[in-house]
Amino acid sequence: MKIGIVGCAGRMGRMLVKAVAETPGAELAGGSEAPHSDAIGEDPAVLAGLPASGLKITGDARELFEVSDAVVDFTAPVATVAHAALAAETGTALVPGTTGLSAEDQAKIEEAAKAVAIVQAANYSVGVNVLLGLAEQTAAMLGPEFDIEILEMHHRHKVDAPSGTALALGHAAAKGRGVDLDTVSDRVRDGHTGERTVGNIGFATLRGGMVVGDHSVIFASDDERIEITHKAADRGLFAKGAIRAALWASDKAPGLYSMRDVLGLDK
Ligand code: NAD
Repeated sequence: MKIGIVGCAGRMGRMLVKAVAETPGAELAGGSEAPHSDAIGEDPAVLAGLPASGLKITGDARELFEVSDAVVDFTAPVATVAHAALAAETGTALVPGTTGLSAEDQAKIEEAAKAVAIVQAANYSVGVNVLLGLAEQTAAMLGPEFDIEILEMHHRHKVDAPSGTALALGHAAAKGRGVDLDTVSDRVRDGHTGERTVGNIGFATLRGGMVVGDHSVIFASDDERIEITHKAADRGLFAKGAIRAALWASDKAPGLYSMRDVLGLDK
């Protein structure tokens, strides 16, 4: 299975190139970067700290889609939307891990998934996908006397907040309660906010150091508190999960799939 990595010079891109090399049955088709990137023409394997592959990073994503069975994309929203359209045109499965997509961006991904298999996840780790199920189940079991808060911490370079995983956990908890997150989410608190609104799901964001990704879902009543926490120790974890998703997607019918489908957690 030939896997292409768009954004292969990025923090996750390099990890993804390494994960392809470490995954039996997967072979690197090549890598692309933004057209203005200094990495164009470099060897993606060498950038990832591996022996030379003889491949050269291209600025033309279409070229990469045409020689790949699946493409993995951890880049930026504007690039991911363009890559989803290319996936649909070339029939190449796509694994988009980019977070911070707007509703319009997401609609374009869903449109592309009518023509090709896309496995999209805010987080490709097994642990977080188990946590999503736990958040939904716990919220379904507890009444509105339990306030739900989601706390996340990431490294200082992260550009979007709350994290895609925090929002996915919010959606899971809201689903458990039978409500729509968009109508109950409390994403920013500053100054004289007034009391907490009953039934809202709150978010708090911490940024600092090189933290790979910590997430907690907190259920707090007057008398007790449940906290479920996941801590990622190495971003290679997300890369390995995304390559597993790419291998899984290569023979799937068009559609928008989740990591829970890949892991068989909903069966
Ligand atoms: P980064 O800035 O280090 O890397 C992004 C790379 O994409 C850069 O090298 C950039 O040049 C490249 N890029 C931008 N536009 C491009 C284009 N048009 N074509 C090709 N390449 C292009 O960022 P990062 O830390 O690697 O994170 C990337 C994204 O992945 C973020 O949205 C982040 O939140 C997300 N992420 C998701 C998960 C997950 O499990 N879903 C895990 C970690 C990070």
